[in-house]
Amino acid sequence: MRRPIIAGNWKMFKTVPETRAFFDALIPEIQNVEHCDIAVAPPFTAIAAAVEEADGTRVAISAQDVHWKAEGAFTGEVSVKMLVDSGCEYTIIGHSERRQFFSETDETVDLKTRAAIAGGLNAIVCVGETLTERDAGQAAEVVRRQVTRGIGQLTSSDLSRIIVAYEPVWAIGTGRTATPEVAAEMHAEIRRILADIYGAATADGMRILYGGSVKPENISALMSKEDIDGALVGGASLDPASFASIIKYERGAGGPIGG
Ligand code: PEP
Repeated sequence: MRRPIIAGNWKMFKTVPETRAFFDALIPEIQNVEHCDIAVAPPFTAIAAAVEEADGTRVAISAQDVHWKAEGAFTGEVSVKMLVDSGCEYTIIGHSERRQFFSETDETVDLKTRAAIAGGLNAIVCVGETLTERDAGQAAEVVRRQVTRGIGQLTSSDLSRIIVAYEPVWAIGTGRTATPEVAAEMHAEIRRILADIYGAATADGMRILYGGSVKPENISALMSKEDIDGALVGGASLDPASFASIIKYERGAGGPIGG
């Protein structure tokens, strides 16, 4: 049994007072939730406040990125040790916005993932094809390359700290969610890729999240699919009411997908 996880990615949103206000509103709404793990990824500047606010709750704090070196002359970067020291338990790695706008490659994803695991963080590693790649029939091939190069050189014990997030680039921040069927098909494909590299038993135990315009209206239908183990939520994680309602998705229900 894979434990579901709902993770919020705030991107470049929220100051420290806004972070505190978010947790003040979120925590009472989710205090009885036991069916899933919960993580929130604020910007670096709000991590300390988020860790303080989430202390004693079931919400874990994640970074949105990390550098692979332990320390050094890398202006603007943050190391695994710094994140652990700040109270982070997770980091996102290889988000498509990092790949598109900040020169992230499969090779840096590999370096960052191995550094995160070695330093004690859990890594949410993002993969996903662009619209051009999907339209060209290359979605599975692109994702196979990203998984193989990004997280293909780990040990089985490392893998217990890895969560894969399938985020089709055409669905991120666009309001255009992949249908549960399209998402489930690619999740099954990712599990096959992981099985090819690490064996079926290991692949079966790994959590694969869907990300791309997840909202309260479509989470239950997505979560009804066998290979979808949770969600990485961008825009809809910024509002505590909408994030709480995603966390409290209807279990065992397939409902129609929302727009
Ligand atoms: C994301 O940032 O990972 C994401 C999926 O964004 P959104 O939910 O806004 O599409």
